[in-house]
Amino acid sequence: MSEIDSFLGEAIALAFDNVEQGGRPFGAVVVKDGAIVARAVNRMLADNDPTAHAELLALRAAGKALGSPRLDGLSVYASGQPCPMCLAAMRMSGIKDIAFAYSNEDAEAFGLSTAAYAAELSKPLDQQSGIRHCPPKAEDGRNLYQAWQARAESKS
Ligand SMILES: [Zn+2]
Repeated sequence: MSEIDSFLGEAIALAFDNVEQGGRPFGAVVVKDGAIVARAVNRMLADNDPTAHAELLALRAAGKALGSPRLDGLSVYASGQPCPMCLAAMRMSGIKDIAFAYSNEDAEAFGLSTAAYAAELSKPLDQQSGIRHCPPKAEDGRNLYQAWQARAESKS
């Protein structure tokens, strides 16, 4: 069995176990140097947490396990096609390789596809529904990001 098949198999096995526990059918593992450093399942229902997707929880666990918010060069293996939230989290944390088994096409008939969100988010911001830019008033002349930068520079 190839390494990819082995790690995807682990993610799918986690997802099957989660279904047995009453959870949603998603599992994911994070791999570093050929070894699993974190594994997670979808906990949306168990935790009433709308962000508790398997991939996101696996990234959190990997960060804790490795003692860093950066996951540069690591790989994620997911039972299902990552949603835009999880995909963005992977990109933002430096995940290098992503593999998934079940596609959005596989998920569609079961109401589990996230393709509609991906399509919405692929539009320019001003064409997306329910979001608007309201620039800060800054009546007191302060700038949030300048304050952060000044603080960061004073610590270095
Ligand atoms: Zn997700």
